[in-house]
Amino acid sequence: MKLKDPGLLRQSGLIDGIWRAGNANKRIEVIDPSDQTALGTVPDMDGADTKAAIAAAERTFVDWKKTTHGRRAELLAAWYNLVIENLDDLALILTSEQGKPLAEARDEIRYGASFIKWFSEEARRIGGMTIPSPTPDRRILVLKEPVGVCAIITPWNFPTAMITRKVAPALAAGCTVVIKPSDLTPYSALAIAVLAERAGIPKGVINVVTGMPQAIGEELISNPTVRKISFTGSTRIGSLLMRGAADSVKRLSLELGGNAPFIVFDDADIDLAIEGVIASKFRNGGQTCVCANRILVQDGIYDEFSAKLSERVVAMKVGPGLVQGIDIGPMINEAALAKINRHVSDALQKGAQLVAQAKTVAVGKQYAAPTVLGNVTVEMELAREETFGPIAPLFRFKTDEEALSIANGTPYGLAAYFYTQNLKRSWRIAETLEFGMVGLNTGSISTEVAPFGGVKQSGLGREGSQLGIEEYLEMKSFHIGGLGG
Ligand code: NAP
Repeated sequence: MKLKDPGLLRQSGLIDGIWRAGNANKRIEVIDPSDQTALGTVPDMDGADTKAAIAAAERTFVDWKKTTHGRRAELLAAWYNLVIENLDDLALILTSEQGKPLAEARDEIRYGASFIKWFSEEARRIGGMTIPSPTPDRRILVLKEPVGVCAIITPWNFPTAMITRKVAPALAAGCTVVIKPSDLTPYSALAIAVLAERAGIPKGVINVVTGMPQAIGEELISNPTVRKISFTGSTRIGSLLMRGAADSVKRLSLELGGNAPFIVFDDADIDLAIEGVIASKFRNGGQTCVCANRILVQDGIYDEFSAKLSERVVAMKVGPGLVQGIDIGPMINEAALAKINRHVSDALQKGAQLVAQAKTVAVGKQYAAPTVLGNVTVEMELAREETFGPIAPLFRFKTDEEALSIANGTPYGLAAYFYTQNLKRSWRIAETLEFGMVGLNTGSISTEVAPFGGVKQSGLGREGSQLGIEEYLEMKSFHIGGLGG
C-alpha cells in the first residue's frame, strides 16, 4: 500500500491513547480480498484487553461529559477536516482490505465524514426542556445527559462509515466509546482513530479493540460499565447481543439485515428505474444492507425492463478495486461467494432463467459475475435471504396488491424502493410498505440528514439526522421545589 502518510496504517489496537501491539503470538492476518495476500496483522485482543478499554472509556467519560458542547463541536470539526485531507489514503486502505472499487471507497470516506460534520453541528444543539409545573412553587426541567460508555460493533461492508455514523453522535453527546471493528477490515477503523487523536480528541475517548469477536463481544455485553451497545451487522448476531444485553439492561441500537424490494410499476419512467436499480443493486458489489434484493417488475414493462437491465449488466467490469474503471470488486471472502452461488443454483434449479451475465475474465477466485435472473419466485432462497452479491433477480407481478404482498412478505423491514408516476399510487404504496426507509423514484436513500434504520427484524433505533444523537442521550427530569411565596 503506497500511502502518502504511512502513519495511518496501524497494526495495533488503541487503549487509553496507547497503541498496543498485544501478544506477539496472538495476531490475526488482514487479507486483501482481491488476491488473498496478507496486508499485515492486528492483535487478536481478548476479554482482558476489552476490560482495559472499557475502564479507559469510563475514566475519560468523567471529563469528556463536562467538556462544553462548543468544544466537542470544534474537536469533531477538526476530525472531519483531517478525514477529508486524508481522503486518498483512507480510500486506499479501505479498498485494499475491503475490495470495493476505489471510486466507491472515496464516496464512502466522504459519506462517513459527513456524519462527523453533521454531528459536530448537532453537538451545539443538545438542548433540553422546561415543563409548566402543576403547582406554583415548583419548576420542572428535562436535562439531556450522555448515556455513558458505549460499545460500537461494526461490519466489514462499510468499514469507515458504519463507525463514524455511530461514534460522531456518541462523542457529540458526551459519551466515550470502545469500538470493535470487523476483524476483516480493522485498518479503516484504526486510521480513523489516528485522525481523531491528531484532531485533539482526548486519550481514552475513542478506544479500538481488534480481534476475533467472541471474547471481545462477551466482555462488551457483560461488563456493567458499558451502558449502550450500538451494533450494525447481521440479524443473527444482533439478536444474540440483545439477549446478552438484557442481563445488565443496556440500551441498544441495532442496524441489522435487510431484504429490500425494488418495485417497478407499468407507469414508471423505465430509464430512471434502471439508473436506480444499478445504484441500489450493484453498489459495493451488492454487499449492502439496503441493496435491492428482490426486483419486482409489472407485467406490461417486464420484458423491456429486463432487456435494458441486461444490457447494462453484461457491460459491467469485474476485477480488483484498485484497477481503474472496475464496477464490481471481489466479494469479501469465500463464504460470501459460496452463498451467492448457492442462491443462483437454487433459483435455476427451481425454474429461474439466466437472462444475462457479465463476462468475468479469470480475475481471481473471489469474484462473482453480475447476473440477471428472470422469472424468480418467492419459493427461491434468494427471495427469503440477503444474497449480498451482484445478482439481480426479477419477479413478475400483475397487480399492486400482489406486489405489496411479495414486498412485505419478509421478516425484514429496512429499505424499499418503488417507481411510479401516479400520485395516488405513490402515497398508497409508500404508506403500506412495512420498511423503515422508502425511496420513490430513487435508488439512493443514504444521507447524513435523514434518519436511517429499520423495522421488524431489521433493527431498533435510527442513525443520522437530528434523531441520531438522541440514541446517545438520557433524559433526566429535574424538579425544583420550595419556590413559593
Ligand atoms: P456480522 O457477522 O453480524 O458481524 C458484524 C460485527 O459483529 C462484526 O464486527 C463481527 O465481528 C461482530 N460479531 C460477530 N459475532 C459477534 C459476537 N458474538 N459478539 C460481538 N460481536 C460479534 O455481520 P457482517 O457479516 O459483518 O455484516 C453484514 C451484515 O450487516 C448484513 O446482514 C447486512 O445487512 C448488515 N448491515 C446492516 C446495516 C444497517 O445499517 N442496517 C449496514 C451494513 C450492514 P467479526 O467481523 O470480527 O466476526
